[in-house]
Amino acid sequence: VLLVRCHMKKSQRWARAMAILQELEEKCATPIGKLKQVADAMTVEMHAGLASEGGSKLKMLITYVDNLPTGNEEGLFYALDLGGTNFRVLRVQLGGKDGRVLNQEFTEVSIPTNLMVGTAEELFDYIAAEVAKFVANEGQDFQVPLGRQRELGFTFSFPVMQTSIASGNLIKWTKGFSIDDAVGHDVVAELTKAIERKGLDMRVTALVNDTVGTLAGGRYTQKDVVAAVILGTGTNAAYVEHAQAIPKWHGLMPKSGEMVINMEWGNFRSSHLPLTEYDLALDAASLNPGDQIFEKLISGMYLGEIVRRVLLKMADEACLFGDTIPPKLKHQFILRTPDMSAMHHDTSANLQVVGNTLKNVLEISDTSLEVRKVVVQLCNVVATRGARLAAAGILGILKKLGRDTLVDGENQKSVIAMDGGLYEHYAEYSKCVENTLSLLLGDEVSETICIEQTNDGSGIGAALLAASNSQYLN
Ligand code: BGC
Ligand code: MG
Repeated sequence: VLLVRCHMKKSQRWARAMAILQELEEKCATPIGKLKQVADAMTVEMHAGLASEGGSKLKMLITYVDNLPTGNEEGLFYALDLGGTNFRVLRVQLGGKDGRVLNQEFTEVSIPTNLMVGTAEELFDYIAAEVAKFVANEGQDFQVPLGRQRELGFTFSFPVMQTSIASGNLIKWTKGFSIDDAVGHDVVAELTKAIERKGLDMRVTALVNDTVGTLAGGRYTQKDVVAAVILGTGTNAAYVEHAQAIPKWHGLMPKSGEMVINMEWGNFRSSHLPLTEYDLALDAASLNPGDQIFEKLISGMYLGEIVRRVLLKMADEACLFGDTIPPKLKHQFILRTPDMSAMHHDTSANLQVVGNTLKNVLEISDTSLEVRKVVVQLCNVVATRGARLAAAGILGILKKLGRDTLVDGENQKSVIAMDGGLYEHYAEYSKCVENTLSLLLGDEVSETICIEQTNDGSGIGAALLAASNSQYLN
């Protein structure tokens, strides 16, 4: 084996490592002024995306959801939630007038990684098989009235150009999925074919993005919910728009006067975003180069990978881990965001968690306390940038809604329904999102705005929308 040895003296190594860290901090800086520019750019792009199809990197997709749950939804409905490394199947017994979920059950199944990059038929067959299994175990507590078809809300967390509430063509994959033969096709038709191949009698009555499901689920329990944000493997937001404020909508004016918009904010890009060499390299090596730049700065799929790239540079140019580069450190995506989070939250005096993670994940043993401290600082820089940019995105939506300032000294209460594992499990990150949003809004306004974490709101939301779009209504 040829080992490239590091010829730097110890003091030089440390100076180089510090220089790399400092440069990263400078390039990742997100002072309030910059965040406000990002928020303004977000608002501008929202207008552009609503004006015309293809008018912006923000797709501002029309969802055909022009009515959010009222609480009158009633009966047994299914939901299927596909969009990350796991998918869920749920059944939900909705109580009707009293607006309650009477009963619910779910199963969660992980998606084998080979299916994320295979063919559409394989993926949908796999999913349909799990749905069939789940349906076969329908207990006595749940009942579909005789002669009725089971109805399903399909949460599909990728950009889709909808053609109706229950159909839509996949625009592109994100988040590690890449199944070419599905792009441009109606995902409901694909799922329906797979369901039929399994001999299951079930119909998709609503196709929703996870943000839209979260918005619907949030609204069911809280009427002040105006938007939903996902901070998980990927990131995105949806909100309720005035139908008249959507020039590109040429359909009928909905009775409610409203339309939920799926922003697909993960694809936002602006010259104000603090992009570093690491981000550019990550993007270039990704499954979707040039796409989802905002997502690559702030979401769970990428944060750990950014940290890995900086560590690799430090190993290479500053011999941070000794004379040679630890081989594992060269593997893309080997450092996952949950590991990064664990290291970032390490409060032990000798940073034991950091030491163990470096050892177990990257096979780097015997790290000094100084080195571990650098790793924690790195995690902090990368997570802070992501969280602050997410807060700027939320400010952009509030601006579009006119809820970022007081009107006549008042402001209606606005609730942002939040979901996603990153926000749920990475405490430093979620704390930073909240603090930054408060800073951006100022004390008075921030009292009227609240972020509410929902617990799988998107599954229930999809079931609710399946109910309000049931074939058995009217
Ligand atoms: C997808 C969105 C989705 C988000 C969160 C993004 O990668 O493009 O449709 O809402 O992830 O799951
Ligand atoms: Mg999800």
